This record gives sequence, structure tokens and C-alpha cells, in this order.
Amino acid sequence: MPRTMCHDACVRLRRQRDVAEAAKSESSSSPSPERDALRDVSVYTRGDLPAKTVFARMGNMISRSDYKCCAERRNLQQWIQRARRNGVADHQIVWWVRRKGGAEMEVWRLLRDERFACAVPCTFCKRALSVFEPKVICSVSDSVWFEGRLSDPNSPASKLTLGQRRLFGRL
Ligand SMILES: [Zn+2]
Repeated sequence: MPRTMCHDACVRLRRQRDVAEAAKSESSSSPSPERDALRDVSVYTRGDLPAKTVFARMGNMISRSDYKCCAERRNLQQWIQRARRNGVADHQIVWWVRRKGGAEMEVWRLLRDERFACAVPCTFCKRALSVFEPKVICSVSDSVWFEGRLSDPNSPASKLTLGQRRLFGRL
């Protein structure tokens, strides 16, 4: 084979590979526009928080985790407070929160480099959420999201967080 023909074939092959790789990285980097919007929300609410901070949103209520409590349970507490302030009777709080909050909770965590990290609700949050039974949308990794109820058999397994494991010792 003359040298130029070989060279042309090489260039063509390389170009094909580059195009295929670009298509692959494009499809994995951006799962959906709604998920990307969460990055923007976090920019306003994050400040100088560590990368382990989890955010949870139900309706127009956004809360974040700290060393004392997870974002999901904090969000539910804030909804319950809001219901009480509105004079909702105790036995109607779950119904009221589901109606006002939309019964859908988004949970996510961003690393320093703006990639999503695992934010599956912990064992305690799973129990608290089971009362309200919202649809949970949570990041499992940067490109993998779980969408559904935590009672579903294919939902990701709940674990204790690192802080909880430290608090309770070896379990
Ligand atoms: Zn939790």
C-alpha cells in the first residue's frame, strides 16, 4: 500500500473514533435539563458548604443537610411547621403537605467540581418519608438517577450515613 493511502485510512479511522467518543461523552454528561437546573439552584443555596452537603426540595421548600440532620427529614420538618402555622389539624398534616408540596422530593449532592454524587435517603429518612410516601428523585451518581418510591423493590438500598455510623458506633 502506498504511504499516502495508508495515511488517509489512518486519519479517517481516527476521525471516526473521535466522533464516536464525543457522542458517548455527550450522552453521559447531561442526563436531563431538569437535573442540570439543580446545579443552578445549589449555586444560590450552597455558599461555602462542604461537598457532603445534601439538598432536598419538595414543592418550593429547599433544605440542606448539616451535621445534625439530613436534608430530607429537615425538609419534612419544615413542611410540618408550615402546616402547623397554617392551623392544619394533626391528622390532616400528611394530606396537607402532600397536596401543597406536590408529593415529589428531589434529593441531590454536588461535589466541588459540579458533578452529582450519591444522595440516596438514609435509613432514618426512608422511614420518615414512608409516612408521606412521596415520589423520590435522587442522584445515585453523576449520570444515574433514581426516580420512584422508596418502597419499590428496585429502589437503591438505604444505609446509615458516615456521621450516623460514627454516632452509633459499630452496628
Ligand atoms: Zn437521612
